[in-house]
Amino acid sequence: MRRILAALVGTLVAAVLLINALLHPAQAGMAGGGSLPAFGFPFSQQPLTRYDGGTTKQVGTYNFPVSEGMAGVYMTLEPGALREMHWHAFAAEWAYVIEGRTRITLTSPEGEVQIADVDAGGLWYFPRGWGHSIEGLGPGTAKFLLVMNNGTFKEGSTFSLTDWISRTPLAWVSQDLGLSPAQVQQLPQRQVYISRKPPAPGPLAQAQPRGAGVKAMAQSHVFDLKAQPPRFARDGSELRLASAKEFPASFNMTGAIIHLEPGAMRAMHWHPNADEWQYVLDGSYELSVFAAQGQASVSKLREGDVGYVPMGYGHALRNGGSTPTDVLVVFNNGDYQSINLSEWLASNPTSVVANNLQIPPALADRLPKRDADFAP
Ligand code: MN
Ligand code: MN
Repeated sequence: MRRILAALVGTLVAAVLLINALLHPAQAGMAGGGSLPAFGFPFSQQPLTRYDGGTTKQVGTYNFPVSEGMAGVYMTLEPGALREMHWHAFAAEWAYVIEGRTRITLTSPEGEVQIADVDAGGLWYFPRGWGHSIEGLGPGTAKFLLVMNNGTFKEGSTFSLTDWISRTPLAWVSQDLGLSPAQVQQLPQRQVYISRKPPAPGPLAQAQPRGAGVKAMAQSHVFDLKAQPPRFARDGSELRLASAKEFPASFNMTGAIIHLEPGAMRAMHWHPNADEWQYVLDGSYELSVFAAQGQASVSKLREGDVGYVPMGYGHALRNGGSTPTDVLVVFNNGDYQSINLSEWLASNPTSVVANNLQIPPALADRLPKRDADFAP
């Protein structure tokens, strides 16, 4: 009897361990052999979900486990297509327009609105929970990238206007909107998500609030990132920044575009206060990540792929190709902070550096003496 019981307990323990390993493959891997999670994700190869008027695909912890701090959605909208009025309960939305033209509406808790056109190279920041919509303006397809400051975010968890009213008892909607039951029945019976019905959007000046006396938001939530002067530049490589300093509305997220010439490196560095989410706009590069405890890896990323560097992890980006590469980089902190290896070495006495690297002072003296964001 006791032997049968022991065998049963043993089987149970093995089953629990197996289930745990299946549920937490990265953790199991780390515990087993010190292997690292993937820091690159082949987002370019993910299939698109198609709607009438647009497409989407998404990346988050469910398919890219390391990306706990941020999730991404790639979306396209045809001219006249509307990503319906919605909000996100668990994430702020930071977005960059890759191609084409969009129009956004954003409503604050004070009932103030911003209605603005955002073209390629521009971005928007929507605080968590604020109501918003996006239209494709044309000509051509609008392509943009949404980055949410919550790695578990899924587009499906969005709070949508039509989902809400179609799931609320008819009498309640009738009372709330002041419509007859017959009129309420003309509203969508399920979530619309993307809508392409007339009228098509007109000029921005004609896109006015329906209500009288609705105030325009004092602070702008859109920003032209591509028009920013480079924050750092060296031999053609550049970094443009939209932190809360340049774009105050974006108080808890920062965006950047890094342009790397062939052969150039975004120098070895780390960010003390933020995770880093990357999207390859064009070209390709290699991402090297250092995770302490003797662990490091190099990932190859090409156009449309996503990279991720957890807060504090050492990293560098190197363009080993023959054409330039542009990388969209997003941080989940409005205060941009980084420490480069070069500035760390430059700020220490030669005796410390020589002792640490176990080299003669004369060789230590040859190491970088000034901060450098790029290594040409
Ligand atoms: Mn949204
Ligand atoms: Mn970085």
